Amino acid sequence: MIEIKNLHKYFGKLQVLKGIDMKVEEGQVVCMIGSSGSGKSTLLRCINYLERKNKGEIWIDGKLVKEKEKNINEIRQQVGMVFQRFNLFPHRTALENVMEGPITVKKEEVSHAKEKALALLDKVGLSDKAHQYPAMLSGGQQQRVAIARTLAMEPKVVLFDEPTSALDPELVGEVLSVMKDLAKEGMTMVIVTHEMRFAKDVADQVIFLNEGVIAEEGTPKEIFENPKHERLKAFLGQIQ
Ligand code: ADP
Ligand code: MG
Repeated sequence: MIEIKNLHKYFGKLQVLKGIDMKVEEGQVVCMIGSSGSGKSTLLRCINYLERKNKGEIWIDGKLVKEKEKNINEIRQQVGMVFQRFNLFPHRTALENVMEGPITVKKEEVSHAKEKALALLDKVGLSDKAHQYPAMLSGGQQQRVAIARTLAMEPKVVLFDEPTSALDPELVGEVLSVMKDLAKEGMTMVIVTHEMRFAKDVADQVIFLNEGVIAEEGTPKEIFENPKHERLKAFLGQIQ
């Protein structure tokens, strides 16, 4: 579903990604871990072209992404993204937030978009909150609306950038549980997270990013029970 070849990214003189190669198969869940500043967000942002890469190739669903506007808009529809901060439209209800993309970007009929949005809100456990405004929802509920909003675009892959980092600890579980359900349904996902237990339970593959390179990758068992790279051992030691 995603294949990245020799990806390089600079911000001015700072080289943030130094030759990333990775593959995500359809239906796979890949968790990405690594210290702050190692390039995790930049890598996700390059995958859906929120940032332009400097070098390398990105293939989505068997197609090489060429950097033309039309292609990039297509990619953004196929590759959904969920951020640490949910950024819902404050003056729109949960339902309206979820309907927005399909209506404006995909030109779907309002009635169809609404039906789909209600089903998605139900899926994330928020059918009773459809007509509430974001300010009336908890952080965990807002993040679940944000996930529903992303799914409404019917992406082939969803990228999550620390989706629970901004939440109070007691609200983390409800968001992880929605993500776990998605994984079970076979959604292809790349998830940057510090929730190691979640990564152990859900990931097919774990990637440890260190200073802009993939320093180690493997199954959760390999990464968490038998880490080899010194920096990975140190990282896991700090976080657990
Ligand atoms: P992570 O998500 O792993 O914490 P980031 O991808 O956010 O790391 O950042 C990697 C490096 O790139 C950091 O040194 C950060 O300061 C730098 N960086 C990120 N975004 C920008 C930007 N827009 N302009 C300049 N430097 C940036
Ligand atoms: Mg980040």
